[in-house]
Amino acid sequence: MSKTPHLADPDKNPSFTKAIFSGEIREDLVFPFPVPSDADREAAAAILDTFRSWAADTVDARKHDHDGKFTDETRAGMAELGLMGLNIPEEYGGFGASAMVFNRVFGEVGATDPALAVYFGAHQSIGCKGITLFGTEEQKQKYLTKCATGELIAAFCLTEPGSGSDAQAMRSTAIPSVDGTHYVLNGSKIWISNAGYAGVLTVFAKVPVEVDGKPKQRVTAFIVDAHASGVSMGQPEQKMGIKASDTRTFTFENVKVPVEDRLGDVGHGFKIALEILNSGRLGLAAGSSRGTREMMRHALEYAKQREQFGRPIGSFEMIQRKFAVAAADCYAADAAWMVTSAMVDRGGADFSLETACCKIFASEMANRVAHDAMQIAGGIGYSKEYPYEQFVRDARINMIFEGTNEILRALIALSALQQPGERLKEIGRAFKDPLRSIGAIGGYIAGRAVRQLTKPEFTRVHALLRDDAEPLADVIHALATGVEALLMSEGKQIIERQFHQERLANAAIDIYLAVCALSRCTAALEGAGGDETKVASDVDLTRLFVAAAARRARRAVRALTRNQDARQKAVAERALESAQLCPEVPLG
Ligand SMILES: Cc1cc2nc3c(=O)[nH]c(=O)nc-3n(C[C@H](O)[C@H](O)[C@H](O)COP(=O)(O)OP(=O)(O)OC[C@H]3O[C@@H](n4cnc5c(N)ncnc54)[C@H](O)[C@@H]3O)c2cc1C
Repeated sequence: MSKTPHLADPDKNPSFTKAIFSGEIREDLVFPFPVPSDADREAAAAILDTFRSWAADTVDARKHDHDGKFTDETRAGMAELGLMGLNIPEEYGGFGASAMVFNRVFGEVGATDPALAVYFGAHQSIGCKGITLFGTEEQKQKYLTKCATGELIAAFCLTEPGSGSDAQAMRSTAIPSVDGTHYVLNGSKIWISNAGYAGVLTVFAKVPVEVDGKPKQRVTAFIVDAHASGVSMGQPEQKMGIKASDTRTFTFENVKVPVEDRLGDVGHGFKIALEILNSGRLGLAAGSSRGTREMMRHALEYAKQREQFGRPIGSFEMIQRKFAVAAADCYAADAAWMVTSAMVDRGGADFSLETACCKIFASEMANRVAHDAMQIAGGIGYSKEYPYEQFVRDARINMIFEGTNEILRALIALSALQQPGERLKEIGRAFKDPLRSIGAIGGYIAGRAVRQLTKPEFTRVHALLRDDAEPLADVIHALATGVEALLMSEGKQIIERQFHQERLANAAIDIYLAVCALSRCTAALEGAGGDETKVASDVDLTRLFVAAAARRARRAVRALTRNQDARQKAVAERALESAQLCPEVPLG
């Protein structure tokens, strides 16, 4: 019988976020704050230096936006610098960067030109990542070596006209040929980044199989030559932002895909897609974070020199608040993508929910900041002569692709509820047959008693931050209690209760980010020998962020029981039914 009330299996694929839903703080996954190895530090410094000096002369984000395409020099330079092979293993001609270095460089590319980051990310984070993770040796030799040099550009083809978020509903098919040499691929994919530049595609399609004598369809991944007979492409999409990123439709008409180009087993396609996207999301988080800095760099310079009422606008507190909130959010977002990158590099932990937390938080932060930067710039913020309106347009996509933020919130909540849910199911069964299940019930009751009497504690937070961490421990305790009550009252219906899922996910995101900020600040304080004045910036930013995050999380948990859900649902359904948002004004 376990003494602690938590439900996460600490030995099997531990997850920080899943554990907090059970009231446990897995500090070992988040502390100490990762110290990049000397090799990573040197690699990052060298790559960033080279990239920055090249980009300063070559990359013109405004021109890319205006022309709707990259200059030839930009694409050639990315390949010559070796950036197109940055996270491809060395044995296939790549640089073999760790997640830490890759995401740091991703951030720099994103801050320089978000469209270029999509080109870079669609190629490596998702385009050829499936081959790196799941390819056979032959596939890796054949494709990765060319992807690493930029000779082949890769794209990831999952979305279809009828299946976006619900990827499993895809209609593309791959039928095995009678002679068993190839598959015949039919279907269409939309919104494919890098389409116009791509030579190799990772395509997901359904393969017919027989299960227990019944015909079924199983999602399977394939490597497809973008120039094979039967593959055609639409015109570039006219998009709001990231305009130089070439986005198009692909149509596959009786395309012969050799059996040796199947990626992984039949039926493993969906899992492969999820694995690819899990780590890919971290790049978007690092890119959004670095982008936030860059947007505010412009706004800060402007706020210092623009004067109104006889003083710089930066001296007004309404402007200062925007900088302070963005700074605290950015500090936490940076801490989170770094802690999560270290998890990816270390292995041995389930980081799927943490990468989702990072992506949601950072993408929403970047969007808020883009609007705040525009607001600080006043009228010129709205002018095409200045970069602010492009910031707003470019930042927006991150909340939509690689899993919309709604879908990722549902993923966080439902995945994290699984363990408490299963445990309660066992308890439910045990109560039906109490005599035989006395051990389980005893354990459960003991667990409840422990939970009611004690709350989790932070033991690795620096002593100077203990008081700041306290409300966070309280809210984790409240979250676990709230989750249990929710599961008891909602049962399986929780799958339909997205008002609650959103609250749970929001609380989890804030808690994860706050703990990462505490970890980062703890390391800073330790590095300063506990002298707060030497790292005043770290301490202030952490205190600001942790207090705000705990407040938001507390509100979210409280709303599990005190809310207006029924009324919200009624209002939304009335609007959907009538296709009219609310009653007309009484003026006709
Ligand atoms: C510029 C750009 C580049 C892209 N690049 C690629 C690429 O390279 N490869 C690729 O395969 N795809 C790509 N996509 C597609 C992208 O991943 C999808 O647009 C995204 O997954 C959403 O799918 P959808 O557009 O069909 O929206 P839908 O799934 O129809 O969703 C519409 C809205 O409903 C919400 N929603 C849907 N289901 C639920 C639910 N169960 N609960 C709550 N809310 C829900 C969504 O969050 C969203 O707000 C790209 C898209 C864009 C715009």
